[in-house]
This record gives sequence, structure tokens and C-alpha cells, in this order.
Amino acid sequence: MSSLSTYRGRFAPSPTGPLHFGSLVAAVGSYLDARHHHGIWLVRMEDLDTPRCVPGAADDILRTLAAFGLHSDEPVIYQSQRTAAYDEALQRLQDIGAAYPCCCTRKEIADSALHGIDGFVYPGTCRSGMAHQRPTPAWRVHTDHSPIEFEDALQGCNSQNLASEIGDFVVKRADGLFAYQLAVVVDDAFQQITDIVRGADLL
Ligand SMILES: [Zn+2]
Repeated sequence: MSSLSTYRGRFAPSPTGPLHFGSLVAAVGSYLDARHHHGIWLVRMEDLDTPRCVPGAADDILRTLAAFGLHSDEPVIYQSQRTAAYDEALQRLQDIGAAYPCCCTRKEIADSALHGIDGFVYPGTCRSGMAHQRPTPAWRVHTDHSPIEFEDALQGCNSQNLASEIGDFVVKRADGLFAYQLAVVVDDAFQQITDIVRGADLL
């Protein structure tokens, strides 16, 4: 839906190892779509889950992209350096009552949850106050039944009922790491991303 002059796309790998072929295909696809629209193409390192990141992998991925002529039009941003922005976003959710602390363990959730399309649907145990105290809770977002929709250029309109299909999802984990779901939204807004090209399996 973007006009010719405002297209901003991105390729956002996780540096958990060398760039594999499928990711390179996605990078080329997003790069070509950006160029076709005379837009901006950005690279973002999704190195948020620091325990899973491999030292040197980010530089290695950038070298591989460069070898194929794929250069970010603006400086590469690293999610590991954007904690302040994620803190601020979580604070805003907390301020409007859209996020709540949760102390449930995986086992407690597994025992009482329904299966959704992306794993367990959280049963809402801590929605109106934590069932029991733990020093560092996770933070979840209140979902509701209003449909969330977006338009895919190939597959058309996609609609999701977050409350029934996903459930109240974690935006900050009990170990202190921010979840991808929060970081990617904050970063896409920050970088004013208009178009996302990914593998069809990730839609
Ligand atoms: Zn809980």
C-alpha cells in the first residue's frame, strides 16, 4: 500500500550462525522489492536472544550479504543495543494497563492451557493479579477478540483473533530478555518500515 517514494523494507536476521541459503533468498527478495519500488532497504540484527547469539555471526552475515552486493541503505541497528527503547515501550503498555506481570511456570501453563496455532494459549491465570509471587515476573499483553488484519501481496488478507488463537503473549521474559514480538514492533515503527518480505512459511 506504500507509495513509490516511501517504501522502506528490511531484512532482519538473527545472528545464531552463518547466513543460510533460505535466509539469503529472503534477503535478495526483500532487497529486490525495495529497489523495484525505489525504496530504502535496511538490515537489522535481531540479536535480542543473547544466549543464542554466536559471537562473530553478525559480522559474518554482513560480509556474506556484502559479497552478494547487499548493503543496508542506513546504518545496521542491533536489537541488543536497543533495550532502552523496549523498556520505554513496555512502560507505555504498563501505563495504559495493557500489560500485566505473570509468574506462571511452563508446567503450570501446560497443565491448564488450550493448544493454539502457535503453541499453548495462556489461560489468563495472572490477568487479575499474580497467582503467587516470584521475584522477577514475565510481562504479558492483554489480548482481546478484535481481529488483527494485514494485507499480504500474494496471499491477500490475513486475519487473526489474538485472544483465541495466540492468547496473552509474553513481551518480557522472566529472565529479563525482551520477546521478539515486542522488539520487532518497536523496531519496525522506529525504522518506519512499510513493507516486509519474508519466506511464505513465516507468514
Ligand atoms: Zn502467571
